[in-house]
Amino acid sequence: MGITDLLTGQHVVVTGGGSGIGDGIARLFAAQGARVSVTDLRAEAAAKTAAAIEADGGTATAITLDVTDEDSVTAGLTAARATHGPVDAVVNSAGAWIGGSVTEVSVSDWDTVMSVNVRGAFLVARGVLPEMVDRGSGRLVMISSVAGLKATRRAGAYNPSKSALLALTRNIAIDYAGSGIRANAICPGVIDGTGMDHTVRAFRNGYTEDYQRWVTELHPLGRLGTPEDVARCALFLASDQSSWMTGTSVVVDGGCMTGY
Ligand code: NAD
Repeated sequence: MGITDLLTGQHVVVTGGGSGIGDGIARLFAAQGARVSVTDLRAEAAAKTAAAIEADGGTATAITLDVTDEDSVTAGLTAARATHGPVDAVVNSAGAWIGGSVTEVSVSDWDTVMSVNVRGAFLVARGVLPEMVDRGSGRLVMISSVAGLKATRRAGAYNPSKSALLALTRNIAIDYAGSGIRANAICPGVIDGTGMDHTVRAFRNGYTEDYQRWVTELHPLGRLGTPEDVARCALFLASDQSSWMTGTSVVVDGGCMTGY
């Protein structure tokens, strides 16, 4: 195995693959030889990522899939397997961010955030784990957040959802370790130009240079992250390079958690 083909022959399902971090992961994984099922709630977004991968000579299929809906997850995974065979690895990048303190977010906002970020990862894991157990191998990579490790202001639903995702990762890790399955998470800092990044800006009543400077200064390395920064870590966790890691999380945040 060379270092440029870490996923050759592997079938990887990426949720939220139509945008931002998921798009970056799908592209890097395809460049590393994976056959990628690019899944997203938005059909046109998944199709765009898959088309870009194919244009670069990779192998990808776009699948419309709502991670919060069990039937949709089942149908999407069935379609993925019909094209690319059993699933070797999954990256859960689909996510929702709705800002507000506990008294600012509505109950419906809470349900949406928890549903996409936690129930979604749970349903996708349930969809792939039985076949991984049968085959005696599999990897799951959850995209959590630094917001799963520390409180960020006015994220009364998002913070708990990302912490719960880390707990789910640990739970899967210990329950399925004996079946050759590993589950790990990534906690990114702010990733420039992604959907979540735009959401944060919008919540702060509009994007301004001052705001971007403030957010950037939270990251000691002096810049916001890129989807590729996160994708390289996801590649490590989804490949055999991380074969003795499970149940843990890797912080990819330009030093944001360390201090500023
Ligand atoms: P993004 O908005 O660019 O992409 C998320 C994708 O998920 C979108 O294409 C969207 O259509 C899809 N999606 C939403 N709901 C879905 C559902 N029910 N079923 C299937 N797909 C659905 O977001 P991003 O910024 O790339 O974030 C990706 C992940 O990384 C999220 O879980 C987010 O919480 C996490 N994260 C992002 C940042 C950041 O700064 N961007 C930082 C830390 C963690």
